[in-house]
Amino acid sequence: MGMLTQYLFLACLINISYALYLSSQDSKYPGYLIKFGYLRRSSLSRHGGSTNVKDDDFRNALRNFQNYVQIPASGQLDDATKDMMTRDRCQAKDTAVGMRRRRYTTIGNWPKKHLTYKITKYSSKISKNEVDSIIFLAFSVWSDPSGITVTKRNGGRTDMEVRFESIAPRADAHIYGNTNNRHKTTVITLNDDIDWSQDFSTGLPNLFQTASHEVGHALGLGHTGVVGAMMYPVYDLGIKIFGLHDDDKQGIEDIYNNVKTVSYPGRFIYKKNRGNLETSFNNFKERITHSFGPMPDIGNLNLPTEFFQEGF
Ligand SMILES: [Zn+2]
Repeated sequence: MGMLTQYLFLACLINISYALYLSSQDSKYPGYLIKFGYLRRSSLSRHGGSTNVKDDDFRNALRNFQNYVQIPASGQLDDATKDMMTRDRCQAKDTAVGMRRRRYTTIGNWPKKHLTYKITKYSSKISKNEVDSIIFLAFSVWSDPSGITVTKRNGGRTDMEVRFESIAPRADAHIYGNTNNRHKTTVITLNDDIDWSQDFSTGLPNLFQTASHEVGHALGLGHTGVVGAMMYPVYDLGIKIFGLHDDDKQGIEDIYNNVKTVSYPGRFIYKKNRGNLETSFNNFKERITHSFGPMPDIGNLNLPTEFFQEGF
């Protein structure tokens, strides 16, 4: 009898801590945490018009995000957190979630050090010459610490491709650019709708800074938690970045230190970095299932599909 009481009591606790109701105006925040790699989609459920999120998972995700962007880690959806989540940022995931050290992350590498790119669509606002030189500079900043050389081609097959195209805003935020691997070419898209500035004092998004950040992804770097680094994911902290931070340099060195081959054609190689989150979640699920039977069925929330289908 005592056993049964204990069992019911625990089951009750699990139910109580299970779901946190979010008002409709706050329901976008779990979507943000999922999109950028902090929260699993299965932590959400939808009942009628409301969104429920597993309390513990949500608090953990918030704490990880708050640590990452360096605001007080309250584990609560407070004003500072909401503010940070509505800022313009890079659309790639923050892959460093759960890391002890705040530093660069890597997502893959090219198996060679000599790379090529071409510009397939120019800006409608900035002259071709200016675009050529800014994009060249964006590649060049990464050459020095990595030993990579990058050559611009006018056509033919290249490892990387840069294009200016209109990218629609998402969830209140402008998207400056994104990087996608398509077959054997990595495509960097820069948003042609943005009024790019080439002057660091105007407060407008800077094309060099954005292009350099995207090139960092194209070469194999993920995001870093180091404020002031080129690979920091949130743009408008008022920090203007002219060159690489030591953290960026160490990251690119780390990736290309051991790459000595000059194989061709070489395809970008993805690193497996699903990380500990998945393992610990599965362990947790197994423990719960073992103790209480299958978990309740949680429906999927209909969130926008991600740019980075392959996870970066
Ligand atoms: Zn990014």
